[in-house]
Amino acid sequence: MANPKCMLCGSDDIQIVKSAVWPIIEMGDVHVNFGVCKVCSHIQQCPPPHLDALSQYYANFSNYTILDANWQPPIKPNKTQQIYLDIAEKYLPTKGQLYEIGASIGLTLHHFKKAGWRVSGCEPSITATKQASDFLSIHVDTGLEENYLPHQANLDLILMSHVLEHVFDPAATVKRINKALKIGGHFLFEVPNAKNPDTLPPGWFAYEHLSYFTKSTLTMMMQQNGFEIITCYEHDTRIIYPVIGMLVRKISEEENHGLGQYPSGHSNLDNMRRYKLHDDKFWQVSHGKIKSQQQPVYIWAAGIHTSQLLGETNTLEGTDILGIIDSDPQKWGKSLDGFSVLSPANFLENYQGEPIIVSSFAGAGSIEQYLLELAISPNTIVKLYSEI
Ligand SMILES: [Zn+2]
Repeated sequence: MANPKCMLCGSDDIQIVKSAVWPIIEMGDVHVNFGVCKVCSHIQQCPPPHLDALSQYYANFSNYTILDANWQPPIKPNKTQQIYLDIAEKYLPTKGQLYEIGASIGLTLHHFKKAGWRVSGCEPSITATKQASDFLSIHVDTGLEENYLPHQANLDLILMSHVLEHVFDPAATVKRINKALKIGGHFLFEVPNAKNPDTLPPGWFAYEHLSYFTKSTLTMMMQQNGFEIITCYEHDTRIIYPVIGMLVRKISEEENHGLGQYPSGHSNLDNMRRYKLHDDKFWQVSHGKIKSQQQPVYIWAAGIHTSQLLGETNTLEGTDILGIIDSDPQKWGKSLDGFSVLSPANFLENYQGEPIIVSSFAGAGSIEQYLLELAISPNTIVKLYSEI
């Protein structure tokens, strides 16, 4: 079989830095590989998952809340929305037509609308787009950007928050964005930042993230596709992993004096090799904590963290796992590495005070809170990350 090609530059010279087999709920053992292109330095899943598998993954994990009839949007924007609003305020004094890709229920658009923009967008979840219309009176197209951007033209601003890392052909998406903007129009986006391996959390290589961008690969991609960089920010601690955002401007053919250069050097490769060592250590520490219980345990949460935990360590061989529990009804009864996922009620029927492993990084605090509310003794709640 031919080597997979780099998503950005088309080279087949990709150095794999991590390979694993993760048992994912309802999907069985899934092989994943992550690598760095030796030509353009782009970090990527290589090969990316098949579209059908990725769609199944999203279907298993999608979790759009059905809003209560009396739901009101928050009066204040959240931190991320405020950053987008501040950048627009500073660099784009003339408010025009904004289109958001991956608009969810339209909350960010709602705040831009209040600030004076004309807004619309697209979003794959029909639950979300219906709520945007019902609760916020904002029209959001149901589907992917590739279906809707070609019908847009002369937009003043396109916003895309944590979407570019999910697409199969990011350069093609950026080309469509460029085409839908007017000359001088802007594209504002944010993605996870692969810059600093020391600040990346456990399990940062994710099944649904096909690309892992840095400032240099983003700059290259933007310059190669008709944009100039207006401003860039990097925040390491606002959410659970570092992020990078950019505002870029569509330039005319006359202004475009040549293509962006591929980043030189091997810093991305070095960084990803270093991160892999960190990540291996995270899983080994977690495995050690589970083994040190020296008795049968439950695992709480059937998400990707548990898939990684079971795939990255031989936890199953050394420990008697009594069950895997999740509070999301979508997951109850589904299969994860041979276990049928239990509901909290199912679990409580047989529970006799055994240790419960909190298997999540991002959601550890809320799981702990939930367990305490179920009157689980704090002594039996095993947190994996308290000492890292
Ligand atoms: Zn490449």
